[in-house]
Amino acid sequence: MTERPRQTEGQNAPVFRFAPSPNGRLHLGHALSALLNAEMAEKMGGRLLLRIEDIDLTRCTPELEAAVLDDLTWLGIPFERPVRRQSEHFPLYREALDRLKAMGLVYPAFLSRGEVKARVSAFEREGGPWPRDPDGAPLYPTEERALSESERAERMATAERYAWRLDIDKAQRLIGERLSWQETGDGQRGEIAADPGAWGDVVLWRSDAPSSYHLAVTVDDAAQGVTHVVRGLDLFHATSVHRLLQRLLDLPQPVYHHHRLILGPDGRKLSKSLGDTALSALRAEGRTPSDIRAMVGI
Ligand code: GLU
Repeated sequence: MTERPRQTEGQNAPVFRFAPSPNGRLHLGHALSALLNAEMAEKMGGRLLLRIEDIDLTRCTPELEAAVLDDLTWLGIPFERPVRRQSEHFPLYREALDRLKAMGLVYPAFLSRGEVKARVSAFEREGGPWPRDPDGAPLYPTEERALSESERAERMATAERYAWRLDIDKAQRLIGERLSWQETGDGQRGEIAADPGAWGDVVLWRSDAPSSYHLAVTVDDAAQGVTHVVRGLDLFHATSVHRLLQRLLDLPQPVYHHHRLILGPDGRKLSKSLGDTALSALRAEGRTPSDIRAMVGI
């Protein structure tokens, strides 16, 4: 693999990043994202970083990470070295969590997925629809916000696992203003009003899986000086949570560009299990990087 020298010109050059999770092989959707990042970085004279989002230590493996790097190199994505690996920065995310804890904005949450599901079904049988997040998942019940310090300590000592969740209402009250972000992507554009409340009390940390996507992505974009986040429209609404975390942690805000998604034959978003759109499979069939560009419409 050829090493591209670190670009040193212009401290103020725009910084882009492609941030795949190595929990499966890259598919055409990832190719579109990586190629767009590379294209936009080149057009703007910017840098392109690669971040391996491997906080899920059970699903992400070194073999899959090596395969991701291999696919991207084959595709000709000119990312800088060294590559940042989230699994090497858990203390940084922990620091951010501790700041939010000191602000009184997070609480330990003990309900399992099954318990939440049972709660929601019981509620919905009585008539009312339970509120759902933009991805359609039921919002986490909020009653554990009110547990006393001693109740929390007692339950944390005995619980098999628990999660630190953000009290979204308290966080929004503390900010006291409507947040927004600058969007240049394929959906709505311009100044987008953030609505973090739509997600309810999001998980920031799990006792058995350190850091959540939301916390790690927000902390890392700032740590890496990312100025332009280019990613799929499936993460458009999640940006509301990232904006709130940026504001709470005094982090700079990048410009966002959420691009169209490549859909499967069934009209659904591609997943890593869709073998025939995996770059490795297409490559084995004899497709070239320029075929891939054509297939994703670049
Ligand atoms: N790691 C995320 C994924 O593979 C992308 C995160 C991001 O670009 O913000 O879906």
